[in-house]
Amino acid sequence: MSNVFIDSEGFANEDWELYVGMQFQIIDEAKDAIKKYNLKKDVQCKVTKATSKKYVCGCSHKAENECNWKIRLSKSIRNVMFWVVSIYNETQTCSSN
Ligand SMILES: [Zn+2]
Repeated sequence: MSNVFIDSEGFANEDWELYVGMQFQIIDEAKDAIKKYNLKKDVQCKVTKATSKKYVCGCSHKAENECNWKIRLSKSIRNVMFWVVSIYNETQTCSSN
C-alpha cells in the first residue's frame, strides 16, 4: 500500500494519516493535506523551506521549546511527477494543548 493518493474523497475518511512514502501529484494537494491534518491533530506549523524540489514544515513553536514536529516532501526520484513524504516526525514536544 505504498501508492496511496490522497484526494478530496480520501479526506472523507476520518482515519487517514500522513506517513513517510505518501505521494501527492501536486504540491498543493500536499499542502492541503498537511493543513487538514494539522487542524485535526491541533498542530501549528510553518513552512521552513519551499523550493522546486523540497517542501518542509516545522512546528511554529520550535523556537521556544525545540519541538521536533516536522514534515518534509521531496520530488520523487523515480517519478518527478510526484511529491513524496520523505520525513515525517509526528511527535510534538511542545505544549500546544
Ligand atoms: Zn510543536
